[in-house]
Amino acid sequence: MTEKSSMQSDYESFLHAACDRLGYSKSTLSLLSLAALEIKVEIPIIRDNGELAVFSGYRVQHQNVRGPCKGGLRYHPEVDIDEVRGLASLMTMKTALADIPLGGGKGGIRCNPRELSRRELEVLTRKFVKRIHREIGPNSDIMAPDVGTNAQVMGWIHSEYSAIYGHSPAAVTGKPLALGGSAGRDKATGYGIGIVVKAYAERYGTPLEGATVALQGFGNVGFHAAKALCDLGMKVVAVSDARSAVYHEDGVDIAALAKQKSERGLLADVDGYKALDPGTELEVECDYLVPAALGGVITKENAPRIKAKVVVEGANGPVTSEADVLLHDRDIPVIPDILANSGGVIVSYFEWAQNLQREVWPLKRVDGELERILTNAARQVFDHAAQTTLDLRSAAFDIAVRRVKEALDASGI
Ligand code: NAD
Repeated sequence: MTEKSSMQSDYESFLHAACDRLGYSKSTLSLLSLAALEIKVEIPIIRDNGELAVFSGYRVQHQNVRGPCKGGLRYHPEVDIDEVRGLASLMTMKTALADIPLGGGKGGIRCNPRELSRRELEVLTRKFVKRIHREIGPNSDIMAPDVGTNAQVMGWIHSEYSAIYGHSPAAVTGKPLALGGSAGRDKATGYGIGIVVKAYAERYGTPLEGATVALQGFGNVGFHAAKALCDLGMKVVAVSDARSAVYHEDGVDIAALAKQKSERGLLADVDGYKALDPGTELEVECDYLVPAALGGVITKENAPRIKAKVVVEGANGPVTSEADVLLHDRDIPVIPDILANSGGVIVSYFEWAQNLQREVWPLKRVDGELERILTNAARQVFDHAAQTTLDLRSAAFDIAVRRVKEALDASGI
């Protein structure tokens, strides 16, 4: 038996606790924890140097009782079935909390996309679709970008799937605009973090203007979150990526850092910015800490050193269940991933709906609908937490788990 990834066991402990609070039976807990379908495929490709390489690909469909499975596709060297399983079930809860008509799924290919050429990535992606196409599609399972994948990868999925089934833009979201992607999808997760933080500040009466932020990760989520939080008048004092981290007490210039990263691949070496040791960006003094890179980065080891007043889970599963307890004991609220980073899946839902209806929404409509749905979800979580004295994660899980159970009951299971 393989050891379960921390993410999966963390997720199970949150789910378990919610089922206990809601008085659900053990069999209901099993039904809610187990995936409906798990796929593992081996994908051989010929590398540019002429050698054969074989990569493992995964897709897990956790639950489709509220709608087709929905979730990202991750390209990363540490992808394995346990991680994908945990992330798929998290998606079920995320779509339920946002109350959108979708279920939960996730996939990944165990590879280092930085070591693959564009041609190799395209061949790998197309072969993955060739192997799993019978199980995915607009009414069954819809993929989207995640760590290590982007709009281009989604474009290849769209093209390969459409070659088999005819033009099918709704089979995948996060596509390039030219292929039926939605306005606002690219920034949606980070922009959504801004919406959730604003709702939090309004509810708990904390000022946004001048509030300080430390961010881990400067990819899709981190970069757009930084922009959104600055637009709210907040000050991003620390930013990191996989290789570098910088700090300035007066706030860093996000546009300048993005330019430098695209030109030189590094955030560090900006005049006047202090370089931080990797990981210590999580420990700087700030109002909001936004881990927006990978899972399991706030652990029982570093949780006692977190100095933020609030942690906002930009990434999926950045706070382990042990760290969650320690932060709670220290009165540091955690805005959970299933709320904080759900902007991406909500706009993916808009993209899917636009594709199905052959519509094209302007950005203003996308942003406005996202704000409406996400603010509503955030207020429901804050209300439930206040009524029950639960922490925000527990409140969010209770709402989501109850919705999935209601759908299972209504469907006759
Ligand atoms: P990405 O690949 O675009 O960016 C990841 C960033 O994290 C990069 O800047 C990378 O350099 C950095 N990083 C990697 N390891 C790091 C480390 N040890 N320390 C600091 N930085 C590190 O990925 P993304 O799409 O931004 O996703 C980030 C997280 O958000 C993931 O957990 C993902 O599952 C989650 N998420 C993404 C979306 C989305 O729409 N993209 C939606 C919901 C959740």
